[in-house]
Amino acid sequence: MTSHHSNQEADKRRFATKLLHYNNAVDEQTGASSTPVFQASTFHHHDIHNPPEFDYSRSGNPTREALEQYIALLEGGHRGFAFASGMAAISTAFMLLSAGDHVIVTEDVYGGTYRLLTTILSRMNIETTFVDMTRFDEVKAALKPNTKAVFMETPSNPTLKITDIALTAAWAKDNGLLTMLDNTFMTPYHQRPIEWGVDIVLHSATKFLGGHSDVLAGLAVAADAETGKRLKYLQNGLGNVLAPQESWLLMRGMKTLQARMEQSERSARKLADWLVRHPQVTRVYYPGLDDHPGREIHERQSAGYGAVVSFDVGSGERAKALLNGVQLPLVAVSLGAVESILSYPVMMSHAAMPREVRLERGITDGLVRYSVGLEDIEDLLEDLDQALHGLE
Ligand SMILES: *Cc1c(COP(=O)(O)O)cnc(C)c1O
Repeated sequence: MTSHHSNQEADKRRFATKLLHYNNAVDEQTGASSTPVFQASTFHHHDIHNPPEFDYSRSGNPTREALEQYIALLEGGHRGFAFASGMAAISTAFMLLSAGDHVIVTEDVYGGTYRLLTTILSRMNIETTFVDMTRFDEVKAALKPNTKAVFMETPSNPTLKITDIALTAAWAKDNGLLTMLDNTFMTPYHQRPIEWGVDIVLHSATKFLGGHSDVLAGLAVAADAETGKRLKYLQNGLGNVLAPQESWLLMRGMKTLQARMEQSERSARKLADWLVRHPQVTRVYYPGLDDHPGREIHERQSAGYGAVVSFDVGSGERAKALLNGVQLPLVAVSLGAVESILSYPVMMSHAAMPREVRLERGITDGLVRYSVGLEDIEDLLEDLDQALHGLE
């Protein structure tokens, strides 16, 4: 398929422009203003001597391909891949490892990734050491003769701890380790890990990239050709690809990423400042706050603080009363959407984690996570204020 914009040209443009002008953003054949949905599982061989570019949709589909080139452009990587969910992308990347390998992972990694490592990959004899990645000495101390990879997530969920990406990636490279980073919370608008030396960037595109709580998807971007080739082999071999309709829907959402992230972040900063002063709130976590321990490192590697604010209201009873008291945000699992979403990690994302482990990681009974959407911030504050005043 020929392309309207070459990625080479697009690479030089600024982020907001890249979001609208990428390979196949305009259909070359018809001039249609969006990539067509190629709802086909297979492709006709017009001439058996010259097989078509696409031959079977698991191996390649033009709509999915447009999305894959799009995310590679945004992350500044060599090649992108689209999967049926964030966990499909993450589990596929872990399939680069073999039985007997060891991986170093941030201790407050996403719950689904924790489950994959501790209950599924462990059965395949892939061993994990969880470390506090805010402490580089812990990362270094976890190195073993069979260590093959380092998996980062920054800011982490839900207490928004910061890992120094460049420092960790450089050390990993010196030790011959593959580096992977879950960039779901920041998106390439705020943070582009490949620029800091990371080999594979992963996304739950279900969150900010899709942005509308209506599509489940995962993306991966390989920094170089060799890693890209290996991921392509796995994607085709495992078959956990994103369907054409979902690929189209995701591109449709991603076009407004910058506009959504900008407004949500502006509101999230206001919310964090407001919560710090609120008498019913005991603690606030947001990388943009002066007292956030990772703020300086975060500011070096990211262009913004994001739209997720976590805060503690003191007890489980009070957290539950707050969840029942709010009227505007969805009370739900997930984040990164046009509508605000309030989550309760203890009963949702971290329900499977033993209480002692959870408390050790700062995930207290009174902790809630607010993903700020596009509502008027004054309405969100008024709503939260009335719910907080209802607490005992
Ligand atoms: C939601 C999420 C995932 C998993 O993505 P799914 O699309 O739900 O499979 C992975 N990492 C982070 C940080 C997430 O928030």
